[in-house]
Amino acid sequence: MTTPDTPAPADFIRAIVAQDLRTNKHGGRVHTRFPPEPNGYLHIGHAKSMCLNFGIANEHEGGLCNLRFDDTNPSTEDVEYVEAVKSDVRWLGFDWGDRLFYASDYFEQLYQYAVQLIKKGKAYVDSLSAEEIRDYRGTLTKPGKESPYRTRSVEDNLDLFQRMRTGEFEDGAHVLRAKINMASPNINLRDPTLYRIRRVAHHRTGDKWCIYPTYDYAHPLSDSIEGITHSLCTLEFEDHRPLYDWVLDETEVECHPQQIEFARLNLSHTMMSKRKLLELVEQGHVTGWDDPRLPTLMGLRRRGYTPAAIRNFCDHIGVAKRDAVVEMALLEHFIREDLNRRAPRVMAVLRPLRVVIDNYPEAQVEKLEAVNNPEDPTMGTRKVPFSRVVYIEQEDFREDPPSKFFRLAPGREVRLRYAYIIKCVGVVKDERTGEVVELHCTYDPETRSGSSQAGRKVKSTVHWVSAAHALQAEVRLYDSLLLQANPSETPEDQDYRASLNPNSLQTLTACRVEPSLASAAPGSRYQFERLGYFCVDAVDSSPHVLVFNRTVPLRDTWAKIEKAQQGR
Ligand code: ATP
Ligand code: MG
Repeated sequence: MTTPDTPAPADFIRAIVAQDLRTNKHGGRVHTRFPPEPNGYLHIGHAKSMCLNFGIANEHEGGLCNLRFDDTNPSTEDVEYVEAVKSDVRWLGFDWGDRLFYASDYFEQLYQYAVQLIKKGKAYVDSLSAEEIRDYRGTLTKPGKESPYRTRSVEDNLDLFQRMRTGEFEDGAHVLRAKINMASPNINLRDPTLYRIRRVAHHRTGDKWCIYPTYDYAHPLSDSIEGITHSLCTLEFEDHRPLYDWVLDETEVECHPQQIEFARLNLSHTMMSKRKLLELVEQGHVTGWDDPRLPTLMGLRRRGYTPAAIRNFCDHIGVAKRDAVVEMALLEHFIREDLNRRAPRVMAVLRPLRVVIDNYPEAQVEKLEAVNNPEDPTMGTRKVPFSRVVYIEQEDFREDPPSKFFRLAPGREVRLRYAYIIKCVGVVKDERTGEVVELHCTYDPETRSGSSQAGRKVKSTVHWVSAAHALQAEVRLYDSLLLQANPSETPEDQDYRASLNPNSLQTLTACRVEPSLASAAPGSRYQFERLGYFCVDAVDSSPHVLVFNRTVPLRDTWAKIEKAQQGR
């Protein structure tokens, strides 16, 4: 319950809930639901909905949020999705307790409510074909036309509806429709379909049913049966609200939840349509629903995203009534922020260039102290082996350095992180290709990090690994799925395929990582110094072949955007 010193609600939905509590509209209850259809995997848009529904319930004493599978369309649904959804909801940090429900559990009740509607003369069996029904419906500018079957008697309707249920008719032979108004300016009220014949097995009810309720009919009644107080859905259902209310007004239900619409999350450079995501998976553009390039929760998880980063992102974007596209860079900002605090630093070289330190004793190995996380001293330090041959990043050397390039070049010095200052004294090239294959350097023994000379100024510090100790690894670099920021999301539009980024995945197989990563557990996350955040791929990594996914590079484009915006 709200008290006088409660902070102002964060958004218009929370304001409505607070107001309803003040007026005791729902008997002081707050009860929401998250209603996924088990026809695909959850994505970051669903995360927004979960953060809202579970979030509001958690913010109120005694508040509840149900997980309900909206499983009324058996032809596209599967138990595989049910299990995946449950695991994703839990992973994101939400708990439905003992409130796991299925719309299919209500099929008998929904059928009885339909019988009520028929008896009241509020529903009828229509025997027009699907095409005729479409024609009769009219358009935005043209009123609909009443079906000749609209005036069937209650007895005939009851008889036909019962026979629809028992399987006497083929798919499409009849439908049950609400009798509302074929001339309504709102097309959703032009005698919408309530039941269809679909002779397909359902993943939970098997062959028990061959008629299935439509979303618009099943959803309000499922909400009502569960005692939901606030039924939160996305904006495209705004025009369906009069139908939501009609169904509850015309049936004998005790609870009339309030439907409130909010803007769905759209993210730049990716897409959220389950149908398109399924296409990407089925056509092999990605490796599966958990491909780290996808905005699915499984993909983000495999990519190295933390639940906290996703929840913080959702809290930050908030909920509003207007559709907008959120920059992917903002999501990346939140994972950087979270991993900056959590992720231990390690050194890894993605494109190795061999460096021989000519004056370093051949057999010598030093264990140099490295800080695990400068943001968090409690994470301690570790020892990194240093020896005569190290690898550095190819891009940290230029034979012919441009003016602002301050890293290694012939005759120049850099510091090796946690180690010594080295100077490039020789360059070995492949005779055939002219490619630089090895550098010769000297080190200054007085400049070891932490020693009195260590502070001697050099323009840059580069990361490295000891060649004799480093582990071989594969590193997968991900870039945005789509080249365009906002390809249109209309259902007919197939053009997103032209926008697929052909370089969304780059696999580097000759990487070297420091030996402390030998024991890295699948899924564990690290900052590779100077490069970005990476996690051990939970599927393909093994002790023999370590595989890392780049979660996000270090460069914070969002901070730049934000800075530019503030400067305006
Ligand atoms: P479909 O196109 O199959 O209906 P859907 O994206 O609506 O897909 P559902 O499984 O029906 O998926 O969604 C479950 C819940 O998540 C719904 O309440 C829906 O409004 C919400 N939701 C889905 N996508 C988004 C999104 N992009 N932003 C916010 N909420 C979303
Ligand atoms: Mg939906």
